[in-house]
Amino acid sequence: MPGITIDKDHCKGCELCVQACPQRILAMSKDITVRGYYYAQLADPSRCIGCRICALVCPDVAIEVNTHGLMFELFDY
Ligand code: SF4
Ligand code: SF4
Repeated sequence: MPGITIDKDHCKGCELCVQACPQRILAMSKDITVRGYYYAQLADPSRCIGCRICALVCPDVAIEVNTHGLMFELFDY
């Protein structure tokens, strides 16, 4: 199953990933980081399709996607 890792200390809370996720499974945290930002969290890991869109739109490269064998291929790198 694909999954993502969000480095919350690099997240600035811009919410671009939340808006971009086609599965609508990213949400902002209720607490803040040491830098004072709300950060993105994966709300429903079981529905992640490993599309990498969240990682592509993140301006701070705070998201890493692990496809574990890739279920869907939407982009050719
Ligand atoms: S990899 Fe795709 S489905 Fe998974 S959290 Fe990121 S944008 Fe959403
Ligand atoms: S796009 Fe990156 S910096 Fe913006 S909320 Fe998502 S993880 Fe944080």
